[in-house]
Amino acid sequence: MAEKNHRLCVSCRQTAHRNHLWRVVRTYPHRKIQLDYGIGRSAYLCPNANCLGAAKKKNRLAKALRTAVPSEIYQTLENRLQSQSSGKLG
Ligand SMILES: [Zn+2]
Repeated sequence: MAEKNHRLCVSCRQTAHRNHLWRVVRTYPHRKIQLDYGIGRSAYLCPNANCLGAAKKKNRLAKALRTAVPSEIYQTLENRLQSQSSGKLG
């Protein structure tokens, strides 16, 4: 990774500033999967339907985190996308 605050999306393999990516964390030591914060192994995903859909279909988050990712995590991210596209901006 060229720049230190850039992270790789597990789906499209493009890098972006980590503030612009969703972070999924497998916390240490309890191995609980949670979003946005926590200490442990992290995987990053672009906040868009393509990358979320591909990650879910190909199980990429689970592979990156080396543990199962609960469907609630995907559901939460899908809900975020919907609230973004429902026109809250501006
Ligand atoms: Zn992506």
